[in-house]
Amino acid sequence: MAVCGLMFIFTITDKNKSMSQIIQPQHVAFLKEAIALSRQFTPENGCGPFGCVIVKEGQVVGKGWNTVLHDKNPTAHAEVNAIAEACKNLNDYQLQDCIAYCSAEPCPMCLGALYWARVKAVYFANTRKDTAGAGFDDDFIYEELNVIGDARDIPFYHVPVDDAKSAFEKWQAQGTKY
Ligand SMILES: [Zn+2]
Repeated sequence: MAVCGLMFIFTITDKNKSMSQIIQPQHVAFLKEAIALSRQFTPENGCGPFGCVIVKEGQVVGKGWNTVLHDKNPTAHAEVNAIAEACKNLNDYQLQDCIAYCSAEPCPMCLGALYWARVKAVYFANTRKDTAGAGFDDDFIYEELNVIGDARDIPFYHVPVDDAKSAFEKWQAQGTKY
């Protein structure tokens, strides 16, 4: 028990120390850029109150803001738009050496997008609770991740179909990897 206690204290102390190193002035500065993007919406431009910048080696390589209404595209979130711009600018489909700065905690879709992009860290200003307070569903969708299949608000039905795995088999035979 004593050993476990010591390990626990060490872990917490180590984490606290690294957090003070992790949040540095340049991170706040990039978050302020993301917040500035989040504020550029108007009733006319069809943007929403979210912004994101992608940074590589201290340089902004992609910017995005929410254009869901303008684009009539529910996936046009700030992070998705910023990832697309950064990938285009870097001519790559992944962003391993990049950091994402988001005006608000990414929703589950954008969390997935940031994982697919393989960014090395994500900083955000508003929390999912702050976003819920402004009337958005991010926090609700996070809760839905803990609900199984057809019990979700939007039911998900698993239907095993004979040929479903054939695409995976073809992919694996091809030998390509993401
Ligand atoms: Zn999102």
